[in-house]
Amino acid sequence: MTANDQKLLTGFERALADQRLHMVYQPKISLTDGTLQRVEALVRWEDPALGTIEPSRFVPLAERYGLIDQLTQWGLRTTLRQWLKWREAGIDTHVAFNISALSLERLDFPDLVERMCRALDVPTDRLVLELTEGATQPLIKLMDTLTRFRIKGIGLAIDDFGTGYSSLMQLRQLPFTEVKIDRLFIEDAPVSEDSRLIVKTVIDLAHGLGLTVTAEGVETVEQLRLLRELGCDVAQGYLIAQPLDPDGLGHWQERFADIWPTLTGERGQSRSRSHVELDSLG
Ligand code: C2E
Ligand code: CA
Ligand code: CA
Repeated sequence: MTANDQKLLTGFERALADQRLHMVYQPKISLTDGTLQRVEALVRWEDPALGTIEPSRFVPLAERYGLIDQLTQWGLRTTLRQWLKWREAGIDTHVAFNISALSLERLDFPDLVERMCRALDVPTDRLVLELTEGATQPLIKLMDTLTRFRIKGIGLAIDDFGTGYSSLMQLRQLPFTEVKIDRLFIEDAPVSEDSRLIVKTVIDLAHGLGLTVTAEGVETVEQLRLLRELGCDVAQGYLIAQPLDPDGLGHWQERFADIWPTLTGERGQSRSRSHVELDSLG
């Protein structure tokens, strides 16, 4: 381990113990009518000494050095508690939570997740777990665990689809409920015939298998409109919202409902107005 990694790891351990991590939540909307479908929980670490550290830096470290279960349990509990607060405030949404493929190697993991939902009285069908194919373990080897989640009513999304090992074949074999198309394809789709064809093929196949399709990393109006044309179900990305603090969700929801017709082009094409409104989206 490098000295830098060691410093990060020690800092991360301390942050976990001192409860100094927090979660932010990025809305995902229906491409049919713009309504809130889910929020994806994303962990944040702002350290007084080390500054802001990206999850893509510390999550792999936590995985490698045995801290991932602790991170997952803390994050999931925080997210489920937040779900209860939103429900009290009249916001009914699914929550999506990222699970490291390593956690899935524990056979008791589905039971643990179910117990956490029960203890807090959150219906399991409100939870979707997002899984990315691990570098060493193809998801097919985790079939048992995945099936257990589905039996409990918990949704399963395959994340970053189109990268790594994940393939169209796996969609048929594994008990997923949702596919998230990686942002690389979404970024290129308006300008690249190939990317557009890939996105279209994934959407059609996933629909044939009864799965919901989410597009990640939607940043432009062009992408959003193209995804609607291609029949994609759900969109997530900076165009719609940045990851938000939990208290910001209600306010975002109200503003987004106003902006939706402009994004889709269904409100008279007042260009200046749409720009003012888009700029004001957080
Ligand atoms: P991910 O699951 O693919 O999450 C989406 C990432 O894309 C997030 O980065 C999000 O902030 C970012 N993003 C969202 N919309 C856009 C967009 O329009 N454009 C671009 N360029 N990026 C966008 P973040 O929060 O830095 O997370 C990075 C990765 O770290 C996640 O990728 C996920 O794999 C992992 N991660 C985050 N939180 C957790 C967690 O609580 N547990 C675990 N195990 N992994 C986590
Ligand atoms: Ca994810
Ligand atoms: Ca992703």
